[in-house]
Amino acid sequence: MIRLYNTMTRSTDPFTPMEEGRVGLYTCGPTVYNYAHIGNLRTYIFEDLLRRTLEAEGYEVNHVMNVTDVGHLVSDSDTGEDKMEVGVAREGITAREIADKYWAAFRRDLERLNIVEPTTWCRATEYIGEQIDLAKRMEGAGFTYALEDGIYFDTSKLPDYGKLARLDLEGLQAGARVEMVAGKRNPTDFAVWKFSPTDQKRQMEWESPWGIGFPGWHLECSAMSLKHLGEQFDIHCGGVDHVAVHHTNEIAQVESVTGKEWVRWWMHGEFLVLPKTDEDESKMSKSSGNFITMESLVERRIDPLAYRYFCMGAHYRAPLTFTWEGLDGAANALDRLRRRVAAIRTDRPGRVLDEPLTAFREACRDDLNTPRALAALWNVLRDERADGADQYATLLEMDRILGLGIDSMAEVEAEVDGEIERLVAERDDARSRKDFAEADRLRDEITARGYLLEDTPEGTKVRPG
Ligand code: AMP
Ligand code: ZN
Repeated sequence: MIRLYNTMTRSTDPFTPMEEGRVGLYTCGPTVYNYAHIGNLRTYIFEDLLRRTLEAEGYEVNHVMNVTDVGHLVSDSDTGEDKMEVGVAREGITAREIADKYWAAFRRDLERLNIVEPTTWCRATEYIGEQIDLAKRMEGAGFTYALEDGIYFDTSKLPDYGKLARLDLEGLQAGARVEMVAGKRNPTDFAVWKFSPTDQKRQMEWESPWGIGFPGWHLECSAMSLKHLGEQFDIHCGGVDHVAVHHTNEIAQVESVTGKEWVRWWMHGEFLVLPKTDEDESKMSKSSGNFITMESLVERRIDPLAYRYFCMGAHYRAPLTFTWEGLDGAANALDRLRRRVAAIRTDRPGRVLDEPLTAFREACRDDLNTPRALAALWNVLRDERADGADQYATLLEMDRILGLGIDSMAEVEAEVDGEIERLVAERDDARSRKDFAEADRLRDEITARGYLLEDTPEGTKVRPG
């Protein structure tokens, strides 16, 4: 039985899906106006670990992820520019081209991190009809009102509005922000449909019963998950920043028209943060300078999987402070793992070792406790009595969840082997020429690469040291 923390109940509860053997999973996807930063990617790694754990437990996972290519405004208070238009202004290409470019870059990031692609991708601009239909249903049920700049959701009409975040609605009302859109009835009301500005032409705008405009950001996730996963489904994920506004409003839009509980499990990944400065712990954000991408790690010759390993060293519900030293530590651990795997790998079939695998799976079932799962992985290698083939088989089984590419570690090492073999052959050649200085130099080079040389009657033998 898997136990998962549910933000709605604030407790870690045994997970059971609605339909036996199948799980409906929705994860909020990227706003494709720029590269994802490694903070965003931490959230997608957590969601991948969730999906892989469910699959390892035998569930078939229907995983839907949206791609936000319209409507996400720079500010959460329904003002400011659409992020996609910011991308257009920056790069001078069309909104569609911006979306294609950064969605492709995002998929490349997922691939490099061994993150399994969702079963279904959905782009907001391809579901405008569904979004308008949902807004019409809200209107029909009496939940919306019109202002000059758009159609708004009246949050006071939904008795349990704010339940996910346990919002203090009266407190919010009292401290209502000055920059609130004029005419909003409640500080928490939000735009469902925004009208195009009268003084400028937007690249992305559509006809609607209320006028030409574009959907509010929260609308896409409600409409697309209703379409692909139905009026009730199992798990919905995102980063913790989505609890108070985005997910709260997604819930309002759906539950106002269906009248029943929508999502059974809400799961949120904590943030990747930068080390504390004099001011405060700083958020990694696309708008500030604190913006590290996967590409910038690769340029520094850091293996993307070292970042995956780094993230797995912390529990997904704990904030994780990013430092280059921390990432180096993870890269070293991964290197060590690669060398150990290469040393034990064999084509001989092995038997999965029950005890460490059980410890590993228990850790994953315990609300995805990856630090404990990694410890279980190292315990397999520490057991000196274990047979190499069995150890290898066990690691492969664990890797179905960890996604560190243990099966290809053997290949990576094979390439190195080729290089080592060439050095060994050169050394044999030097010895036969009686060039002992050269032979010794080559021996040192081979040793420095982590291999041991033995001169035997059958010739030179080499093995990882
Ligand atoms: P966005 O592309 O801005 O819509 O964000 C994509 C995902 O990344 C969302 O699930 C956010 O909650 C999440 N996110 C944003 N910043 C961070 C961060 N610093 N650490 C972890 N997750 C984040
Ligand atoms: Zn969403």
